[in-house]
Amino acid sequence: MTITIASGKGGTGKTTIATNLAVALATEKVQFLDCDVEAPNSHIFLRPAISKTEPVQILVPQVDDQKCTLCGRCAEVCEYHAIGLFGKRVLVFPDLCHACGGCSIACPENAITEVPHDVGLLQTGQSNGIHFFAGQLNIGEAKATPVINAVKRHIRSNWLNIIDAPPGTSCPVVETVRHSDYVLLVTEPTPFGLHDLELAVAVMRKVEVPCGVVLNRADIGDEGVENFCHEKNIDILLRIPHRRDIAEAYATGRLLIEMLPDYRAIFRQLYSDIEGQL
Ligand code: SF4
Ligand code: SF4
Repeated sequence: MTITIASGKGGTGKTTIATNLAVALATEKVQFLDCDVEAPNSHIFLRPAISKTEPVQILVPQVDDQKCTLCGRCAEVCEYHAIGLFGKRVLVFPDLCHACGGCSIACPENAITEVPHDVGLLQTGQSNGIHFFAGQLNIGEAKATPVINAVKRHIRSNWLNIIDAPPGTSCPVVETVRHSDYVLLVTEPTPFGLHDLELAVAVMRKVEVPCGVVLNRADIGDEGVENFCHEKNIDILLRIPHRRDIAEAYATGRLLIEMLPDYRAIFRQLYSDIEGQL
């Protein structure tokens, strides 16, 4: 089973929920996959022993100036303006390239070869019996999806896979939640939390992945999120109060279930409730 923890906006406690859920279930076969590749921070809570770090690469075009006749066909087929004719040279912009291979197929002179281009890193490790994978997008790289896919390739269908998704509702989130069995949306009971939850729920309905809500800092704010979930028939599976000891666990990089052992059973119940919904 694959459960993805997502949120319409950052700072709601998504990684807290993902890491605590994984550790609470560590007696099962659990994998943790950090797909929040622009700001991965699950390692702070899980403290994995990293055994392998490898580059994530995409194939981008390289033009042989000796063979190129400057016909411009490559620029015509590129949907992303990642290759173009500039004076008497063809220039490639790897940051814009989606590695579709179209330009090399279209080139009538076979002047284009595809060469690896580093876009990020994939770390593999172990944390108290949990298999740990985390992607990190290189600084300045625009496309997170190749790194997310490199992490997701390690999903095992007969294991429990907990994925920490990027915040928001853009392409990297869609790529992360696709093919998940269930998505937990973490939010707060504020107008901002409601606004972003509405967007996140719309995305989940579009990609047809069932979802439920975790309400963090549940005793602040207003009733907007509760009312929205009731109207849309979305279950709020867990309410975490706004408490100093919980905030301290987060602020000191400690797991909630380490500092407040009662939460181990609460997170196991959360998993049972998700199983029940499926
Ligand atoms: S591989 Fe695709 S995206 Fe990249 S430059 Fe060629 S046509 Fe454009
Ligand atoms: S399609 Fe090939 S020959 Fe034509 S401009 Fe591009 S690289 Fe040069």
